[in-house]
Parts: sequence; structure tokens; C-alpha cells
Amino acid sequence: MHSMPYRRTLHQALRIILVGPPGAGKGTQAATLRERYGLAHISTGDMLREEVRRGGPLGEQARTLMAEGKLVPDGLILEMIAQRLTQPDVEKGFLFDGFPRSQAQAEALVQVLGNARRVQAVIQLDLADEEIVSRLCGRRSCPQCGRAYHIVSNAPRQEGLCDADGTALVHREDDNETTIRKRLAVYHEQTQPVVDFFGQLNLLHKVDASRPIEHVEHLVEQCLEKVLQKEMASRRVLSRRSRSRSLAFR
Ligand code: ADP
Ligand code: AMP
Repeated sequence: MHSMPYRRTLHQALRIILVGPPGAGKGTQAATLRERYGLAHISTGDMLREEVRRGGPLGEQARTLMAEGKLVPDGLILEMIAQRLTQPDVEKGFLFDGFPRSQAQAEALVQVLGNARRVQAVIQLDLADEEIVSRLCGRRSCPQCGRAYHIVSNAPRQEGLCDADGTALVHREDDNETTIRKRLAVYHEQTQPVVDFFGQLNLLHKVDASRPIEHVEHLVEQCLEKVLQKEMASRRVLSRRSRSRSLAFR
């Protein structure tokens, strides 16, 4: 990781979304951002896999859809998110990974956050379909902490074991070529409109996700620096306005 200074002097939380096709590197980048900026990492994929492991009715409903590469119904996802957003760690800023994935989810998110917790930036990790297939076929995931590895480009220090907690890595059931192609089709059909939606809101920052992991980290950080500077400038304007308003009332 390069040594750009850590900018949490702003006393404010970052609220961002990582969007991109499956395998673009959202989880990989999220792990870095979570540590660097102290953000709550909200991955609907990880949450659903946890539900599947627990074996409850929600997990049961999600399991088949996930194995087929289809989206889980919006209502179920939105209920899960609404509950997650009540937890105290989100006050320090949050990072959505793999959510929203449909237009209905995107619109509901904007509603539920309101203005006080509005999203400041959506970072789009851009990667060609063929690269995605090879990334996902070689991905190995830690079922304990969700960290992702790759058998060639990002191997763990000890084969088959997570560097962070030593758990045996798994090859996800949906990381096979047939399901990957299905997930890509679903992405182009149902999630691309979400990307366009955030583009219209002027929130989108596109990043070339084909670069090595450290380089992508650098590109993402450059985006966030710009976002923080813009945020700081608009806060200055707001505080100047409220100061001059209070002077006018004296
Ligand atoms: P997503 O969360 O978007 O589905 P992951 O972060 O799990 O994607 O990454 C998918 C696979 O690609 C993993 O095997 C990961 O190690 C690998 N990977 C992630 N970013 C890069 C990169 N910039 N270059 C090469 N491989 C990467
Ligand atoms: P991911 O871990 O992000 O690759 O997600 C794995 C699978 O979980 C997807 O293929 C979907 O079946 C399901 N999933 C994850 N997030 C969502 C979401 N926001 N909306 C609908 N389905 C989701």
C-alpha cells in the first residue's frame, strides 16, 4: 500500500458505495477501505451467506437463488439493510458492497438514508467480462471473514488457508463458469441501470479495475480524496452562510 496521508481530520464520516460486476474486486477494495477509514463494511452477499449458514427461513429462500446466480428479492434485501442501518457502527461511516443491485433497491436506499446520511460517492469498478470469468474461477474465499484470494494473482501465504484467521478457504458454489456467466447477464440487465441512476445524480467515479490490487487502491483513494475535499468545501460554505444568517438576526 502506498503512503498517502490518512485524512480523517475532517471529523466526518464517509458514506460510499462500491459498484461493479461480480469479481471486479469490490470485497478486496472494501477490506482496505474499512481499515483505512474505519467504515462499516456492508456486503449483502456476505450477509446472505451468513443467513444461509444459519439455516433459517431467510437463508433457505436465498440459497437456491444465489446458487443459480439470480438476485434475491428486493423486499428481503431491503429489510436486511434497514436493520443493518440501525446498528451504531454505521454512524462512523459506511461502505456498501454489492448493494444496491436493482433500480428498486437504489431508490429505496436514497429514501431510507435521507439527506442527513446521503451517499457522497459511488465508485464503479470497471472490468471486462472475460477477465471476470478468470478472476472468479480462481477465487478462494474465507467463510469466516469473507476475505478473497486468487490461486494465481493473490494467493494466501499458506496454500488453502486465510492469512487473517487461518480458516480453510472455500471455492464458492456460484464461482463456476456457468453461474458466473449468468451473474454477469444479471449484472448487465439489472445493475447497470443502477450505475446509470447514480451517474445522473453526479455521484459516479469510474475506476479501471483491471490494474493490480495496489494500483486500484490508489485510484480509489484518489477519488475519495476529491470527495472529501468537495465535502469540506461545501461544509465551509454552509457554516459561512449560517454565521452570516446569525449575524443578520442580531
Ligand atoms: P467482488 O467482491 O467484486 O466479487 P473480489 O474482491 O472477491 O470481487 O475479487 C474477485 C477475485 O479477483 C478474487 O480472487 C481477488 O483475489 C481477485 N482480485 C481482486 N482485485 C484484483 C485485481 N485488482 N487484480 C487481480 N485480481 C484481483
Ligand atoms: P456477491 O457476494 O455480492 O457476489 O453476491 C452473491 C449472491 O448473493 C448474488 O449472486 C445474489 O444472488 C445475492 N445478492 C447479493 N447481494 C444482493 C442484492 N443486493 N440484491 C439481490 N441479491 C443479492
